[in-house]
Amino acid sequence: MTRSPVWHPFHQHGLEEDIPLVTHAEGAVLHTADGRRVIDAISSWWVTTHGHNHPAIMAAVREQTEKLDQLIFAGWTHEPAETLARALVEIMPDGLDHVFYSDSGSTAVEVALKMALGYWHNRGEARHRILVLEHSYHGDTIGAMSVGARGVFNRPYAPLLFDVGTVPFPAADPQPSLDALEAACAAGDVAAFIVEPLLLGAGGMLTYPPRVLAEMRAICAWHGVLFIADEVMTGWGRTGTLLACEQAGVTPDILCLAKGLTGGSMPLAVTMATAPIFEAHYSTDRSKLFFHSSSFTANPIACAAAVANVRIWQEEPVLERVAVLSDTLGAVLAKLARRPDVTNPRQCGTMIAFDVAVGDDAGYLAEIGPQMRSHFFAHDVLIRPLGNTVYTMPPYCISQADTDRVAEVMASAIESCGTR
Ligand SMILES: *Cc1c(COP(=O)(O)O)cnc(C)c1O
Repeated sequence: MTRSPVWHPFHQHGLEEDIPLVTHAEGAVLHTADGRRVIDAISSWWVTTHGHNHPAIMAAVREQTEKLDQLIFAGWTHEPAETLARALVEIMPDGLDHVFYSDSGSTAVEVALKMALGYWHNRGEARHRILVLEHSYHGDTIGAMSVGARGVFNRPYAPLLFDVGTVPFPAADPQPSLDALEAACAAGDVAAFIVEPLLLGAGGMLTYPPRVLAEMRAICAWHGVLFIADEVMTGWGRTGTLLACEQAGVTPDILCLAKGLTGGSMPLAVTMATAPIFEAHYSTDRSKLFFHSSSFTANPIACAAAVANVRIWQEEPVLERVAVLSDTLGAVLAKLARRPDVTNPRQCGTMIAFDVAVGDDAGYLAEIGPQMRSHFFAHDVLIRPLGNTVYTMPPYCISQADTDRVAEVMASAIESCGTR
């Protein structure tokens, strides 16, 4: 067979690992060209919420393709974008009254940073510094990498990434972290603080309590520092509530949503902002407009998929499903956590994670990561460990039988790959 010209993301082609070809999917299951039935235990990289090919979302996409495929969005509009924006303002926390469209989580973050910097610029105040939380991940474009943790993911680009202030991750005693945030905010040059609420994804599925999130938000408010919540992964029920911020009673100044916005079916993102952010750009002076766009801003078909997603939230018992799945996964985790080779068990809603004991070879490039990934694949489960951290966050529709199977293969993966 000739080699495929496709260059895959986060994939070392030199290792010549198998690349399965998926032909179709439904619910929590992927079907491959060679006839395998694979459980998608990480929701196709954290995007699929209700399950693959949800009939209502697919129908909305089909219907929209009959009407309008694509439209310039600078100074033009269409019905799916208008309907979606109104629906988002309705269901998201009060005060986030303005909706800016883009097409991925990374661009939603870029937009959030540019909005924050534009806010201060247009007000004539010199605030340029961005604060971030240690171990954060906000995407792979240069700006998004700049506000993320430095490491093997971005070493070649490090010299070009802009400088940020890093607040230590809130550990068991969060006070040093809160004190560091307070001190950094007090310096007076901080434009914004960007956080992944309650659950840091790519940084290793690290969790911290709502109380800490609420305190961080209060510190920012006190100092006039804009609070950006990156709910690209945590949004749409993943942590047990529609937004993770809800659990802390927090309304951010700027909110980033992507992944589950279309139920995970189409690329679409929004950055939602409060009135002061919008008003700082509202003027009769053209030089104060918000200078950001991409060709496919608010693509009508993607917006139609997102409208269908919001309807599902309004019409189906999504939060009940999330609660049931969270309980099921909690039981799975409790059982695995009894093993001596499993450490740091943690759960946030429909995400459970733990670390596998490996001795000295830890970190993202730990050999055990790809070893376990192969083990999962060989057993028809899609799980991509982050180094020695194993996690699952399945679509909310996963069956009990498939969840049991995931638990079983997790145990056998630890057995065959962990150090005894
Ligand atoms: C995945 C992710 C992003 C980037 O989203 P893309 O759509 O992959 O660009 C940003 N922030 C968080 C928290 C994420 O998990």
